[in-house]
Amino acid sequence: PFEVLVVGGGPAGAATAIYTARKGFRTGVAAERFGGQLHDTLGIENLPGTPYTEGPKLAGELKRHVGDYDIDLMDLAQAVKLVPASEKGGLHTVELGNGASLKARSLILATGARWRNMGVPGEAEYRNKGVAYCPHCDGPLFKGKRIAVIGGGNSGVEAAIDLAKTVGHVTLIEFDTKLRADEVLQAKLRSLPNVEIVTNGQTTEITGANGKVNGLRVKDRASGDERTIELEGVFVQIGLVPNTEWLEDSGLTLTKHGEIATDEEGRTNLHGVFAAGDVTDVPYKQIVVAMGEGSKAGLSAFDYLIRNEPA
Ligand code: FAD
Repeated sequence: PFEVLVVGGGPAGAATAIYTARKGFRTGVAAERFGGQLHDTLGIENLPGTPYTEGPKLAGELKRHVGDYDIDLMDLAQAVKLVPASEKGGLHTVELGNGASLKARSLILATGARWRNMGVPGEAEYRNKGVAYCPHCDGPLFKGKRIAVIGGGNSGVEAAIDLAKTVGHVTLIEFDTKLRADEVLQAKLRSLPNVEIVTNGQTTEITGANGKVNGLRVKDRASGDERTIELEGVFVQIGLVPNTEWLEDSGLTLTKHGEIATDEEGRTNLHGVFAAGDVTDVPYKQIVVAMGEGSKAGLSAFDYLIRNEPA
């Protein structure tokens, strides 16, 4: 069995494995796709100390860094079930989609999250070519330009307020008849001169030319009328879905959003089971945050292992 088994190989999983391997613990990493969301990311400009890199390049460097240690990296390994140890200090079991099962004294869950897509024509085609999901990451690319934010919940309205400072004009589009964000955020949004709010609006298509977004089709759900808004960017803010479906029925506490509930040391409600990164309830889903949380969870696992004898 492993002393530490990390499930997930994004920035959080990679960081945690490096930390536990450096403590001399027998560490394994099981990841469906090592690198995680980095593979969907083009330019990264907000990783301090690295002024510019690209997602797949960073994923390759993380893989090389993990490879510098005696870490058993199982790529293309999907976890389908967690069976926690029946007693404190006992072995946890993670079952894989290929029928294998892995045992470990401690687990660090870092299976990340995925942005919910609108599923309209043009969205996938123009991803990273005007269609964006992360205002903290891609906001500055749209300086002075016209953009839309899709979604009138807290994340959409926060994104619109944030982006309105940099971009030329923001159209916020909400499917429902009213915004769902906190009132204080709505008031802030309404006070901004370069923001238009569209409610009861259904985005039907993202249009483009020459490999770049040039507009968005939106239907008024009351009248059925459709119009085109000319713009250069679309930020989709309709939810970030944690990859925790495989943990339902495991006894692990999830929040109402399906995120793994953790304390400030990355501990979950189960002894010897830790979690880090986008899959948890930690605020702000960013690479540097995921790496920091992964390092913390690794050190917490170390602390657990030296204080608890194997059952
Ligand atoms: P993830 O990167 O999601 O990795 C999860 C890992 O778990 C993957 O290896 C995955 O294959 C694996 N996994 C999932 N389910 C299972 C399972 N059942 N069994 C086994 N393995 C599983 N952040 C920034 O800081 N700067 C940016 O510029 C930036 N740009 C972004 C652009 C885009 C388009 C996107 C989508 C995100 C961007 N982010 C950016 C956010 C950043 O990518 C995430 O915050 C970060 O990757 C989270 O790391 P993580 O390790 O928690 O999860």
